[in-house]
Amino acid sequence: MKTANTKNRFVGKDILSVDQFSREDLDWIFSKAREMREVAQKGRTNLLSHAILTALFYEPSSRTFGSFVSAMQKLGGGFIPLQGMTYSSVAKGETLEDTVRTFECYSDVIVIRHPEVGSAKRAAAVASVPVINAGDGAGEHPTQALLDAFTIVNTFPKIDGLKVALVGDLLNGRTVHSLSKLLVKMGKVEFFFVSPKILSMPQEIKDHVNKRIQVSEVEKLEEVIGKADVVYITRIQKERFSDLTSYEKLKNYYVVTKTLMQKAKKNMILMHPLPRVGEIEAEVDKDKRAVYLKEQMRNGLYIRMALLAAVLGKI
Ligand code: ASP
Repeated sequence: MKTANTKNRFVGKDILSVDQFSREDLDWIFSKAREMREVAQKGRTNLLSHAILTALFYEPSSRTFGSFVSAMQKLGGGFIPLQGMTYSSVAKGETLEDTVRTFECYSDVIVIRHPEVGSAKRAAAVASVPVINAGDGAGEHPTQALLDAFTIVNTFPKIDGLKVALVGDLLNGRTVHSLSKLLVKMGKVEFFFVSPKILSMPQEIKDHVNKRIQVSEVEKLEEVIGKADVVYITRIQKERFSDLTSYEKLKNYYVVTKTLMQKAKKNMILMHPLPRVGEIEAEVDKDKRAVYLKEQMRNGLYIRMALLAAVLGKI
């Protein structure tokens, strides 16, 4: 990995989609995330002591919300936590635009999660402070993709030739949408898209990825687990189903067990954006290849520290 000495091109910018990152940007963000790891491990700084973040979360979140709040505090800043919206004027019917206009008066950066695809873009269109997309429905989750890619490059510095299996609800999972688009920017990976047919990757993402690299679509994880360097499994996205009976049929479609892990490569990694709701048996957690409760989650803090300091112009 190159140590990027590029200048910060994110000052005052929104982070809405992985489409906006160049390969050089990624190297730069990852090198800043490594610096942030040092900062976070030592304690805190006052780099952003002038700044306040609004965390505007219209959908549930543990890690994204928690790591953004932690990132802001590690950097000495303050935050306004808005989760669930029961106690804000959203419950009185306030529009997204008016809510955003309100919180840009009180804060320097807005992190938003919302059930509608395109909502972060809508927020950014009215905000004069940077807006960071923390998940727009089944659309994108760019900061998750950055932390996922960071986890992958820290394990496998050479991306070319890497075999990556994305597994589960590829139709509705925003993390896999963003991650697949991001990884093809980084090198010649090979993808296995593993899903039941009705939850397969949206055509536009397949088209985008297919132009650049090789993709195989399969239904059975058993067919590819022995070949993959990275297995990235996801939850069936219950909240995106209009018909709960089909969710019930699909929810246990993939379960990674200790026995299945015996078929996987010795130096592969098993990832999950979390929360898991049965996709990985608890017994697998002890396997040294399981990184979802360790590096992957911690990397979210370092990446988000780097992004906040970048958009606020302090690195
Ligand atoms: N936490 C991730 C997201 O917000 C994954 C998930 O919810 O399944 O997209």
